[in-house]
Amino acid sequence: MHNDIESIVLTKEQIEAACERLGKEITADYEGKLPLCVGILKGSILFMADLIKHIDTHVEMEFMDVSSYHGGTESTGEVKILKDLDVSVEGRDIIIIEDILETGTTLNAIVDLLKYRKANSIEIVTLLDKPMRRKVDIEAKYVGEKIPDDFVVGYGLDYQEKYRNLPYIGLLKEEVYTK
Ligand code: 5GP
Ligand code: MG
Ligand code: MG
Repeated sequence: MHNDIESIVLTKEQIEAACERLGKEITADYEGKLPLCVGILKGSILFMADLIKHIDTHVEMEFMDVSSYHGGTESTGEVKILKDLDVSVEGRDIIIIEDILETGTTLNAIVDLLKYRKANSIEIVTLLDKPMRRKVDIEAKYVGEKIPDDFVVGYGLDYQEKYRNLPYIGLLKEEVYTK
């Protein structure tokens, strides 16, 4: 375990099991369709890569980058599009892939935008969900694991752009972000 990590929230094995379970559910729900998987950069890329290996039907991949966080550990409520999609979503079945659903501000803004652009259907898959933190009315259809209200890093999730490469999800020691 990395020295800055207090404890492990999800092990490599638990993450792999979640990807397998969610991949099977998505396969069953989208059989015969061609969903467009939209990964939200940068946090979702490890999850997206592992999840889609367990989706046993055709999918396409695109990416969007939005920001609602500005370096700290609290959301500001603002959402800005840093990188937009390169393709049209009109008439498409969209699966948004996220690392973590917290207040819901980020995903709510993305869902509104894709609706406005006339997507046929929009569902969300998130590895982690912090339901206690929700500020807007939005839920993910596919959830890896519900977790308490603690700041976590690893497996794509960062603190000041670090720790994304950890193969597990862990709690950051408080001394790391207060010093
Ligand atoms: P929301 O808009 O739902 O409040 O926030 C979603 C985004 O905030 C996530 O995609 C993620 O980038 C960031 N975020 C929320 N909670 C955490 C956390 O515990 N750890 C990290 N590293 N990022 C988080
Ligand atoms: Mg994110
Ligand atoms: Mg971040």
